Amino acid sequence: MKSDRISAAQFAADGSFAGRLQKLVRDVVVPYQYGILNDALPDAEKSHAVENMRLAARKMAGEDIPPEAFYGMIFQDSDVAKWIEAAAYTLIATGRDEKLEREIDGIVDLYAAGQHADGYVNSYFTVKAPGREWQDLREAHELYCGGHMMEAAAAYYEATGKRKLLDVMCRFADCAYEEFMHRNTRGYPGHPEVELALMKLFRATGEKRYMELAKHFIDMRGQAPNYFVEEEKNRGWSVWRGSAELDTDYTQSTLPVREQKDAVGHAVRAVYLYTGMADVAKETGDETLLAACRTLWESITRRRMYVTGGIGSTGIGEAFTVDYHLPNDTVYAETCASIGLMFFAKKMLENEHWGEYSDVMERAFYNTALAGMQLDGTKFFYVNPLEVVPGVSGVAVTHLDDLPERPGWYACACCPPNIARCVASLGVYGYSENETTLFADLYLGGTVKTAKGTAIRCETAFPHGGAVRYTFCGAADLTFAVRVPAWSRKTALSVNGEAVELRAVEKDGYAYLTRRWQEGDTVELTLDMTPRFVYADPRVAADSGKVAVRMGALIYCAESVDNGEVLPLRVDTGVPPRSLPLDSALLGGVVPVELSGVREETAQALYTDEPPKRTPCTIRMIPYYAWANRGLSEMRVWLPEA
Ligand SMILES: [Zn+2]
Repeated sequence: MKSDRISAAQFAADGSFAGRLQKLVRDVVVPYQYGILNDALPDAEKSHAVENMRLAARKMAGEDIPPEAFYGMIFQDSDVAKWIEAAAYTLIATGRDEKLEREIDGIVDLYAAGQHADGYVNSYFTVKAPGREWQDLREAHELYCGGHMMEAAAAYYEATGKRKLLDVMCRFADCAYEEFMHRNTRGYPGHPEVELALMKLFRATGEKRYMELAKHFIDMRGQAPNYFVEEEKNRGWSVWRGSAELDTDYTQSTLPVREQKDAVGHAVRAVYLYTGMADVAKETGDETLLAACRTLWESITRRRMYVTGGIGSTGIGEAFTVDYHLPNDTVYAETCASIGLMFFAKKMLENEHWGEYSDVMERAFYNTALAGMQLDGTKFFYVNPLEVVPGVSGVAVTHLDDLPERPGWYACACCPPNIARCVASLGVYGYSENETTLFADLYLGGTVKTAKGTAIRCETAFPHGGAVRYTFCGAADLTFAVRVPAWSRKTALSVNGEAVELRAVEKDGYAYLTRRWQEGDTVELTLDMTPRFVYADPRVAADSGKVAVRMGALIYCAESVDNGEVLPLRVDTGVPPRSLPLDSALLGGVVPVELSGVREETAQALYTDEPPKRTPCTIRMIPYYAWANRGLSEMRVWLPEA
């Protein structure tokens, strides 16, 4: 069954977990990131992102600006774009805010003033490499930056009705349309993103050409001869001088997309591409494209995804590697990649409403995506390891990316504003609807409104509690489809206090309840929150002989701040994990889990014939998303069995 995402305005969070996250983004993350983008915070790494736009605007006004005045990554504009998008969703989620809108409008004015007569806009090329536009599609990120700004424009227009940025981005999209539909028809972006963004621009404006261009980029990708190989031969100029040998897997361009069988290459590029593919497949009814999306979905979720919903097994190329290669300590699992996996899951869900997609969206969000941000909203992980040892992680040459603590900002700052925009628009991922049905895909405390105006309130302590109660705030004829997650081994469902036989109403991971609902009607779902051990497929060498622990959707980890050294711990899997009461003073309020196990004594020599002495112990676990919030600590998700 097909569905559409709801608009961000249709969901309002309350004091729930989702609401507290959105409040943190509004009160801390958005102002903090504005400070960084404007280089107003003395302790943070220099961004220069807004200054680059100011320089471009001054240059377009005729000032002489030296190329070296540009500072930062070639895709520095995209950090600003994601911040605008996050701020726009914040205006929708928690109310209009004059000061914030003035800040956004100020940046929009700068950005617009940097636009060329033909619609092209990009601060790097305007200031640093004029005349080089569209020459390095593989790495120059022009369509990537433009795509992010299209997403920001659509969100800001939705939030305020202000058209200026939307009009700027339509002119940019028109410029790209001219370039790639008429002049360079074989070209497409090395970093996919603009495909999914053009679909948003298409929906915001009704302009079909934007969808046509998105489909064109997808259809051209990987056609022989390979565009990027040809470009490399003909160009003689590149933004990444001395870059590694051209690897077409890196850009998902080795084969046409409909022939691709495995998720390969740069993980963020991959899931952004697949999201655009799934969106175009849905809008155009293209079954071959949808089939390709299913194949790639299975490649990721059956063989190349971490238990935390992280993807990308290596920092070399920030990439997927091969099936079942999921090392825990040299992992990449970029925050952006898990957010991109949520986007892909959401678009697959809109094509076919299967609970499997929601389950993965939830896994990626509550574990890797959330772990990307410090609980106080001011520090961020780019890379999300499942095992860190201080002194090794971030230090050994093989572990330089896998930091044991979150830094404040990054020279390459894609992840921090990405998590902000994801949280600020969480309602969009929590619900979907079509003509007849409202789907509850995630369990978000707050009130959702259907397109026809019926409000339904959700009260829940999820992800820390398994009771989810929906109350209709008005009468409505509709099907209410509540997700029944695959991880819940005993789920109870009731309507107005009367038990409903799940088997009679469940299909593809959703319970479909159709009736004439009255104001005050309730639907209650009770999910199985028993903490459980998780075992990996034996082909995952890194997890061999180890177990992870989950409670509901949350994956847990052990930290040395609770346990002392973590590496010598061995779990007794004969004793089931035990959840403790919710500790509201711990890590913003979490349910700790305890395991029985033993601690091995550290050996006298590196190698010895003597088995280690073992002392019984209790192992204390916390949710993975909250790790690295109490100082430097050893951390492990997968623990060896005793
Ligand atoms: Zn990132």
